[in-house]
Amino acid sequence: MGGRIKLLPEYLANQIAAGEVVQRPASVVKELMENAVDAGAKHIKLIVKDGGKTLIQVIDDGTGMDETDARMAFERHATSKISSTEDLFNIRTKGFRGEALASVASVAHVEMRTKPAGSDLGTLIRIEGGKVVLQEPVQTPVGTNIAVKNLFFNVPARRKFLKSPQVEMRHVIDEFQRIALAYPELAFTLIHNGNEVYHLYPGNLYQRITAVFGKKMGDRLLPLEQETDYVRISGYTGKPEFAKLRRGEQFFFVNKRFVKSPYLHKAVMDAYGGLIGERKIPSYFIFFDIDPQHVDVNIHPTKTEIKFDDEATVYNLLRATVRHALGKFDQMPSLDFEGGILPDFRPAKPGKTYTEPSVQVSPSFNPFTEGTDKPFDKPSRKEIDRFTGFVSAANDFPSGEADNPLAVFDDTENDTGDASFQWADKYIVTYVRDGLLLVHQYRAHVSVLYEEFLQELKQGSVPSQLLMFPWETDYLPAELELLEKHRKVLEKSGIRFEIDGEVFRITAAPTGFDNRHLKRFMDELLAQLSEEIPAGEDDLNKYLALRLAQASAIGTGQTLSKDEQQKLLARLFSLENPRYAPDGKKNFITLSENEINNRFL
Ligand code: ADP
Ligand code: MG
Repeated sequence: MGGRIKLLPEYLANQIAAGEVVQRPASVVKELMENAVDAGAKHIKLIVKDGGKTLIQVIDDGTGMDETDARMAFERHATSKISSTEDLFNIRTKGFRGEALASVASVAHVEMRTKPAGSDLGTLIRIEGGKVVLQEPVQTPVGTNIAVKNLFFNVPARRKFLKSPQVEMRHVIDEFQRIALAYPELAFTLIHNGNEVYHLYPGNLYQRITAVFGKKMGDRLLPLEQETDYVRISGYTGKPEFAKLRRGEQFFFVNKRFVKSPYLHKAVMDAYGGLIGERKIPSYFIFFDIDPQHVDVNIHPTKTEIKFDDEATVYNLLRATVRHALGKFDQMPSLDFEGGILPDFRPAKPGKTYTEPSVQVSPSFNPFTEGTDKPFDKPSRKEIDRFTGFVSAANDFPSGEADNPLAVFDDTENDTGDASFQWADKYIVTYVRDGLLLVHQYRAHVSVLYEEFLQELKQGSVPSQLLMFPWETDYLPAELELLEKHRKVLEKSGIRFEIDGEVFRITAAPTGFDNRHLKRFMDELLAQLSEEIPAGEDDLNKYLALRLAQASAIGTGQTLSKDEQQKLLARLFSLENPRYAPDGKKNFITLSENEINNRFL
């Protein structure tokens, strides 16, 4: 049994990415929990005090170690997980460097109790600053119980560098979550300062995600799955409308190892394309299963960076897989009626349809008496084209025109003959085959303009127009300097300006721009410029397009003629993705006939 752990031969030790892995309590948590996973534990318990500054303890029910191995485990380059260069290219365990326990023991007080199956007694080892101060037999269950106290007690500079317990705990929780998500089939417990933070039962990935991030998260995810000879991709990705402005739950696991990869992240973002707002980030939990021969994990000592031997294939496959998941979602019935409203939408045709309602008007109909006259019963429902049915209901409204809330349908002075109307000066209400469509006019307009501005920006710059009355405002010298520095960016967006002492004067603005919004546009742009200017050309264009669109769009509270309503709808629905505004908010909602009928029950 003993002697499983061997010292790595020097040549092999030298091939392993060198570097310190112990930076903060969370790094210890990661190393200890990974060791427990590698030891085949079914239940892993993490106990932490003061964000790990005082205590980090991991208790597992894995294989445990005999006396010899217990001692060997703390030697540098001592591991049971690899023994040849070949092994380095076929790694299935979390660890392989044989350095973690040695590193941890050299900068902390460590106490380990461990026992393999079949032994009566286990081993207790106490090490302080790398020196074994006690080793003796001990009563202990099968498995390993390792406690790390007073991290960096002998490296004051490091200890001082640690953040508050809350901040350190945040990092600890991050590491705990990563491992808990990678191994939903195992049970995990996390206790901080005596309080149970997590008690996770074995289950599937979906159950684990909701156990860790809450039930709500479950409703926000779309499953994804794809398998090729090279790699299997599986997991969940967030519904577009739940994407957030801040980074949150973004997880990639390669062979159950949490990895960070800006490259893969980009593939996911690419797949979301226009589905989510500018600068928003979706949640995702994406797993790659791949023959270890195709991945290099020996790039960085913490092993959170990896490299596939065929990066481009993984990128493309990932993007396609996420797109597919999103595409499926797009066809899901939750939003659409039978057949889906998007493919069926036609901008309303000029319609005799509504001037000649197929439902007969009953002049005697009074909604307040349950009379015998039931005008809606007359033509059989089958005869009523759904569209005309709806419109005629408006025409059938029995009281005087002035009282008719839907009288707008009788408004023939603006005769495009199209069945839409504006409500609350905010929404355009129109119909689709199976119900009503309520379009948020401001967002719809932003979406349409965004695409147009983006096109113009991509081609160079937004056309601008001289202002008859230049717009002037005062800025601080530092702000003026910033604006001057980014003159090109402003000119790209169609803004020409002069700086005259402390006066900032805009002489030309983008064509069609609502100049009442110049101030807001400038203030927001300034705020952005002082923070960071989107680095890539692409990001900058998108950013400017969004700001320009927001500043130029018709607001809520603005009355639209029917013609304007129709044009806006037609433009909106000619977009590739009419559903969401560039900031990720909904452009429209639908009310199916069923939903409406149900409200009348
Ligand atoms: P590595 O994990 O890279 O091999 P470590 O320093 O983390 O290096 O651990 C050294 C060795 O100690 C491991 O290879 C393993 O054999 C043994 N070991 C560490 N932790 C455990 C544990 N919780 N249960 C059983 N064996 C362990
Ligand atoms: Mg290890």
